[in-house]
Amino acid sequence: MKPAKPNASRIEKPRKKDGDFTALALSKAAYAMSVHDPRELPAPGPAEIAFVGRSNAGKSSAINTLTGRRRLAYVSKTPGRTQLINFFSLDGRAFLVDLPGYGYAGVPGEVRRHWEGLVGGYIATRESLAAVVVVMDARHPLTPLDRRLLEWLRDAGRPAHVLLTKADKLSREASTKVLAKARADLARLYPGTTVQLFSSSKRTGLDEAARAIGTAVDAFPGSKNKSPG
Ligand code: GDP
Repeated sequence: MKPAKPNASRIEKPRKKDGDFTALALSKAAYAMSVHDPRELPAPGPAEIAFVGRSNAGKSSAINTLTGRRRLAYVSKTPGRTQLINFFSLDGRAFLVDLPGYGYAGVPGEVRRHWEGLVGGYIATRESLAAVVVVMDARHPLTPLDRRLLEWLRDAGRPAHVLLTKADKLSREASTKVLAKARADLARLYPGTTVQLFSSSKRTGLDEAARAIGTAVDAFPGSKNKSPG
């Protein structure tokens, strides 16, 4: 559809789109708290949008890029050390939740079990969890662990949005192919999951990701964050 031509005699105020709310709120992200044990989780409040992914996939960079903050999420150089769920308040209207990564090579079973208890418990039971952004490296998406995570999300009925990040490392042609293949695979694994290319380095895919987050917040039952327009 072609956009309507501007008409000087009938100037309308711009409609507030879902992305507007999110762009505004994302840039206001502020650290709220960290949780090491599911029992420490705060009482459910505003909609939570959780980010999760295989270690090194680019999750921290994506959070920092989307919020416009250099070091909001710590870009980790020490794999598997801390297993914390970090909450960032989006202007008191939603939470961005940074879940610990998975798939670190050589982590002891005890650490893996803690991750499964913490993240698995959060995904399965958290009342205020509106959607999960799954971060994957566009060069090797949908690893066996990514697939298992998507099964958890499907079983828990959590809407998922996949960021295929580091897309700058692929040619335009290769990234188009990767996106099409991921879309087809996701349609089988967990229908309804949305997927996009993203690059923190080149700052591409930001609007699409912000829109997906805004839509998930708005669609969350009982969300007080409905865009007024
Ligand atoms: P995390 O473990 O998933 O939080 O991953 P990080 O955000 O710490 O990123 C892992 C590594 O990938 C770091 O060296 C980042 O600088 C790099 N990285 C992250 N995102 C991108 C991206 O979009 N493009 C490129 N080229 N490198 C990235």
